[in-house]
Amino acid sequence: GAEGQDDLLAGLNPQQLEAVTYRGPALLIVAGAGSGKTSVLTRRIASLLRGREAWPSQILAITFTNKAAGEMRERVAGLIGDAARGMWISTFHSACVRILRREAEQFGFTKSFTIYDSGDTRALLKRLVKEHEADAYGLTPASVMGRISKLKNELSDAESYARQANMSDPVERKFVELFADYQRQLRKANAFDFDDLIGQTVYLFRAFPQVADTYRRRFRHILVDEYQDTNHAQYALIHELTRPVSSDAPDPYASNGMMIFEPETTPALEGASLTVVGDSDQSIYAFRGADIRNISEFERDFPGARVVLLEQNYRSTQNILSAANAVIGNNFDRKDKKLWSDKGDGDAIIGFTGYSQHDEAQFVADEIEVLRRAGMPYSEMAVFYRTNSQSRALEEIFIRSAVPYKIMGGTKFYERAEIKDALAYLVAVANPADEMSVRRILNKPRRGIGDVTETAIARFAEEHDISFRDALANSAQLGFGPKIQAAIAHLDAVLAEATAIMLPASGELPAPTTVADGLSLLLSKSGYLDSLRASRDPQDEARVENLDEFVAVARDFARNNPEGTIVDFLTEVALVSDADDLDDESGTVSLMTMHTAKGLEYDAVFVTGVEEDLIPHRISAGEPGGPQEERRLFYVGITRARKRLHLSLAMTRAQFGEVTVAMPSRFLQEIPAALIDWRQSPGDVNSRGGMQSRALNARRSGGFGGSGSGDRFGVKALPGRDSLKPLSTAMDKFPNRVTAKMRDNGDLELTAGDRIRHVDFGEGRVDAVTGEGAKRIAHVRFDTAGQKKLLIKVAPIEKI
Ligand code: ATP
Ligand code: MG
Repeated sequence: GAEGQDDLLAGLNPQQLEAVTYRGPALLIVAGAGSGKTSVLTRRIASLLRGREAWPSQILAITFTNKAAGEMRERVAGLIGDAARGMWISTFHSACVRILRREAEQFGFTKSFTIYDSGDTRALLKRLVKEHEADAYGLTPASVMGRISKLKNELSDAESYARQANMSDPVERKFVELFADYQRQLRKANAFDFDDLIGQTVYLFRAFPQVADTYRRRFRHILVDEYQDTNHAQYALIHELTRPVSSDAPDPYASNGMMIFEPETTPALEGASLTVVGDSDQSIYAFRGADIRNISEFERDFPGARVVLLEQNYRSTQNILSAANAVIGNNFDRKDKKLWSDKGDGDAIIGFTGYSQHDEAQFVADEIEVLRRAGMPYSEMAVFYRTNSQSRALEEIFIRSAVPYKIMGGTKFYERAEIKDALAYLVAVANPADEMSVRRILNKPRRGIGDVTETAIARFAEEHDISFRDALANSAQLGFGPKIQAAIAHLDAVLAEATAIMLPASGELPAPTTVADGLSLLLSKSGYLDSLRASRDPQDEARVENLDEFVAVARDFARNNPEGTIVDFLTEVALVSDADDLDDESGTVSLMTMHTAKGLEYDAVFVTGVEEDLIPHRISAGEPGGPQEERRLFYVGITRARKRLHLSLAMTRAQFGEVTVAMPSRFLQEIPAALIDWRQSPGDVNSRGGMQSRALNARRSGGFGGSGSGDRFGVKALPGRDSLKPLSTAMDKFPNRVTAKMRDNGDLELTAGDRIRHVDFGEGRVDAVTGEGAKRIAHVRFDTAGQKKLLIKVAPIEKI
């Protein structure tokens, strides 16, 4: 019923209109970037609700990040009002956690299970690799972790894998042994890792069809954004949910979730309607098991599916789109689709080649200020890079240039040791079976409990078949000395007190204490805060601030979720993903990886480090399909821009003082030269003379001109904007002046035999010095960090 929907349908083009209003079992919307896929999905939900075709509770919408889920919820609410509540709009992971929390007891877990993030998983595997002496087989925690994750994404478990693995190979046997033990440990800890959240939900649905049926009856409309990045497990989950309900088995949750004792049999029901939207050109998670075929085979899996193509891009100017089309056109094996825009050509794409990454970062910072003075808010600007480590140089320059920024990648905060400790305290309360967390806080703060004591407690737990946490409560039987005994008893008492107020037995207390109060209690009574405050280490001061911030996060949570429990809070924290920022400041520039940028849009975008070995990344070169996936990633990056796109690179990249010489990315050559206005092209930096005079001009003019022309360095119309010749040899082209902003060791005398100290690498011996002047390179053999070549002028080194 399209009645009363005029406002919902206003402004849609005919294809979008069809995507919103088509009704049928399966709908696939495929389209390039910025063509309104996400918008159409949102309007479709609103239209279903407005037309009373579905209750909010019958809708399950899957987005790629929690942030995207929040935005979609807000937009639906904006379109139809309060009815938006009660809908499930969430990521795959969040949806599965909700299901598992309800159903965990069906298969031997409790509601308060812990979610292991990649850090937890790595820690557990580290321990297991050691216990199983697996490093002798060449198995590292990282390699085992990667393989297990991959197998889980294919819905393979330790047993099924063992059945088809070559078990006469000792390495394989060892791996299977580790995989099985890893899974045992998770179960013992009442924990799921990230991949399990999906995989175990699929398992649950397959093993308990009645449980699956309740969800099939509930969710009548399933909508999935970014479908091109679903992996096999997620695909299977969708399949399970959209199956028809054929059984006439009783529905245990009939009549509004209340258990009824003599249920009537319920009628068979056809499968839920499924809408998926995606763009195979933006598939960038193959390394995590995403399977592009999920899109191409949709029509086979869902016969009779309607397919809608969207071609008009509403996001970017034509120049940006032409660049994007040109780049992605180099991938073979794809359906050609041409995006077009009626926004006009817009500004030229701006190119810049820095001498170093600091130089590049300075360009970005300067351009940001130009745009801001022209009226663009910081929040409309974003800076992308391929790898997280590239943010360091940008941050340094941004701080110096007073450009306010935030790094998208909320996980960083939760990776800090003090936050992990605080979380471990909470987990020890919420899920005492989680041994890893209890062990983590055993001697934090220092209580004089060492490895010997810890091992004794673990052995005691094993002998008596109780948990590590329960062993603490019974430690009096272990015969420790009075000091240690008192320390353990104190920890046990603090945990018990927190448990009593945060997890009251039902009806015991009028209202449970908020998570924030419980957290404060744990941190103060355990002595954790006091020990940080007593410390003279300046870093500990920052740690106290971070913990304050964490308590504030918990308070916010309580405000937004008045009924929220400690388990809900831990769930939310565990599911924070890359694109979910902690604080929602609007007056800041966003920094993020190109992966994180998916689905987002900004007025101005800076794609930095457009160099070979970064984009395409070095590790992708050897992977089948690797370079193509990198091209898609680059395509994602440039199609985020509405009005202004900047592509920049650096000719040399110093990381930890080690200099590598970079070559322009092949993707730059794929963009028609006429689209890029090079403020400083790779050719300019390459030809020495020109470079020097420009550097001088830059210093003299002390700034840059307006936008649009290549006059940043007082040089008009730089020649050779298309001269992307690769550097022939590394150092003979190295510029004399790296950048005025970097440290300058210009007069540091070094000869073979000298000992030096490096900020990151520690001490080492100089084997040889080559090159001259600014290009002098020290070949250093570090005591622990191995051999490195350092550019003396800029390396953070001193003679000792
Ligand atoms: P991506 O592939 O990057 O995820 P997308 O296909 O999901 O992109 P959206 O984010 O939904 O695209 O839309 C891109 C922009 O175009 C948004 O700002 C959206 O509001 C706008 N837009 C979409 N459809 C229309 C329309 N019919 N009229 C005007 N603006 C539109
Ligand atoms: Mg989208």
